[in-house]
Amino acid sequence: MYIEAENVLSLLPWNTCSARCAHCGPESGPKDKSHIKHEHNLFLIEEAGKLYSKDWCLTLSGGEIFLFYDKLLKYVKHAKKHGGYTTLITNCYWARIEEKALELLKPLVENNLKVLGISLSHFHAEYIKPEYVRNAIKAAKKLKLTCRVRSVASKSGRLSDVLKSIEDANPWFMTVMEMPLVPHGRAANLPKDEFPSGVCPAASMTFNPKGKAMMCCNGGGDLEPLQVGDIYENSLAELEYQFASDPTLNLLRNKGPKECLKYLSKKDAEKVMQEKYINECHLCIELFKGKKGKELKNIIESDFINSMSDFSKKFTDKITTHNRVDG
Ligand code: SF4
Ligand code: SF4
Repeated sequence: MYIEAENVLSLLPWNTCSARCAHCGPESGPKDKSHIKHEHNLFLIEEAGKLYSKDWCLTLSGGEIFLFYDKLLKYVKHAKKHGGYTTLITNCYWARIEEKALELLKPLVENNLKVLGISLSHFHAEYIKPEYVRNAIKAAKKLKLTCRVRSVASKSGRLSDVLKSIEDANPWFMTVMEMPLVPHGRAANLPKDEFPSGVCPAASMTFNPKGKAMMCCNGGGDLEPLQVGDIYENSLAELEYQFASDPTLNLLRNKGPKECLKYLSKKDAEKVMQEKYINECHLCIELFKGKKGKELKNIIESDFINSMSDFSKKFTDKITTHNRVDG
């Protein structure tokens, strides 16, 4: 989210949330207790401090990250101690009055919280009063903390309506990102669009509350073929290596989900092409879910290994020919 640092540790420490929005991809809610072990979050932050260059970024989301404020503050302090700064995304349920918002934000800002990301949409409005968001923005402005709004758009709710609901906090000069809704998790039945052909828009290794290292937090990352390991079994360096070198992830990053169609049978590819999709992420989720998704990943990997051995053979032949001519 809005990150300028070259190196980012993206954690979703818990899936518990004060709200239960209808569009929520990870299906967060008050009863969900899944979480990354507290000590392991601290360990990952220490690892990031060793592995990453100075001024690396810890980004925290959830679930709702303010629900366990003491832990949140510890993570922010720990990132600072290990050379990083923090950004986070929240729904602002905690900002019932501006004074409380100031009280909670101040220690975070003092410990290098640089961006308050606010997740806001008409789906959130069922649970979070716009007034709370306004209080959070006003408190952040007093602390000179950058605020950035991220809003999911759908046919029934556009960004302009959402911004109007917080207009007396003067959001017009803030960075605002309108994101298309991906039909994943609780967001299931949505209007579709034309066939998407762009590259993966949001590859960023993210650790979910179950400890899985995901390709992204846009829905695809919840699927096994788009995960690169487990924080309890792999070191951060191993996960970074896997994230950078996985052939499927690289294909999505460099050419986009549409390119994966060439690895399907003609019949399966035609079936996929007949459907309509909201965007690249929706197509990606369709391609990689279930058993077929695992098979697709295996085919992409085999193709990559074959192309590498072809390349290596051609290279060896060239060297041999060259040596013969020279000899
Ligand atoms: S506030 Fe965010 S994490 Fe919580 S239910 Fe809504 S979309 Fe999901
Ligand atoms: S294209 Fe797939 S991997 Fe990339 S951000 Fe979208 S869902 Fe995630």
